[in-house]
Amino acid sequence: MENFIYETQAARVIFGTGMVAQVREELFALGAKKTLVLSTPGHEKIANDMAELIGDICVGIHAKAIQHVPIEVVEEALKVVRERKVDSLVSVGGGSSIGLAKAIALYTSLPIVAIPTTYAGSEMTPVWGITENGLKKTGTDLEVKPKTVIYDPTLTVTLPKSLTVMSAMNSMAHCIEGLYAPKVNPIISLFAEEGIKAISSSLPDIMKAPSDLNSRSKALYGCWLSGTVLGSVGMALHHKLCHVLGGSFGLQHAETHTVILPYAVWYNASSIPEAIKIMARALGTDEKDVAGILFDLSKSLNAPTSLAEIGMKEQDLDRAAELASKNPYYNPRPITKQSIKQLLESAFKGERPPKGMEFQVGADHWMLDMPF
Ligand code: NAD
Repeated sequence: MENFIYETQAARVIFGTGMVAQVREELFALGAKKTLVLSTPGHEKIANDMAELIGDICVGIHAKAIQHVPIEVVEEALKVVRERKVDSLVSVGGGSSIGLAKAIALYTSLPIVAIPTTYAGSEMTPVWGITENGLKKTGTDLEVKPKTVIYDPTLTVTLPKSLTVMSAMNSMAHCIEGLYAPKVNPIISLFAEEGIKAISSSLPDIMKAPSDLNSRSKALYGCWLSGTVLGSVGMALHHKLCHVLGGSFGLQHAETHTVILPYAVWYNASSIPEAIKIMARALGTDEKDVAGILFDLSKSLNAPTSLAEIGMKEQDLDRAAELASKNPYYNPRPITKQSIKQLLESAFKGERPPKGMEFQVGADHWMLDMPF
């Protein structure tokens, strides 16, 4: 067994159907007297419901969170926080709502109660991001990590099928990269395996019956595990590529994760035999076909499988490869601009990663037989 360091990060997690009713009690436990509810535009109904549950300690609803947390949105929210003497935040919604809460906490250290309604996983991480002048700055600060997280599957049944799938594939990507990330350790690998299993097995059932609380619970459980993985270990090529494609080419976050995942796994597969074994076990598939099975899963759930489908322009692939290979970062298989470009070209076309064939850089033919 290899040496490792495992560090826990405190968070109180309340999980289950109807548990959102506990939000007021949880706020009291944190000493809250003036709580601001944060959400996204168009998601006000759920924010109103939350304000009602919180009762007289709720000082308002600020439903202005948007993707990638623009600094202007943060400044406007900070003004509201100062004016109303807010002492605590409740974020209800997906990664964008939690992202705004984290940005406020970065400047104020206010405690956050997060109530996720998608599967993005941000509620379990100390990672914040703020976009200024078109550039997204990210950082890690335990101060921004929600103190309490309430996972209630009843809040996820309204999530449209397409968002459900793509947000869950985003979550799956955290588990998958967590298996070969820097700082990987056996405990986090257990979380990742269980997360992949819960997410991949619940999605087909949710597609058949979107209001079924059992499968919604299972997906949410997987998402909690995936967020924990993301918050505990580093990530690699997949997340870097998605960051570049979202940040510099305006592609939607969850869609990009969904399309890129099979290709990132295909690219890395020959360098991560142990991680591939775990993925295959969790997905119930052959070790030689993990990337292909991830592709099939997205396709069977009617999710996009090519960059072309989600608005990437072919002429931008070269620039994307350049940006993604510019600054060195951890990846189990070495990267070059050329290798990234090849990966992006495959993802652009939406070719299924073939079973048993290694992703070969600089070749017209794929080599048969994976080395495991
Ligand atoms: P999102 O929060 O932008 O939500 C997508 C849309 O879904 C919004 O319009 C929202 O109003 C709607 N929505 C949310 N829940 C709903 C529900 N239950 N029913 C109906 N509609 C609902 O998207 P997301 O995918 O959750 O989050 C993406 C963002 O999170 C990105 O900006 C990403 O960078 C960030 N993120 C951050 C971390 C981190 O650790 N910091 C981790 C993962 C994602």
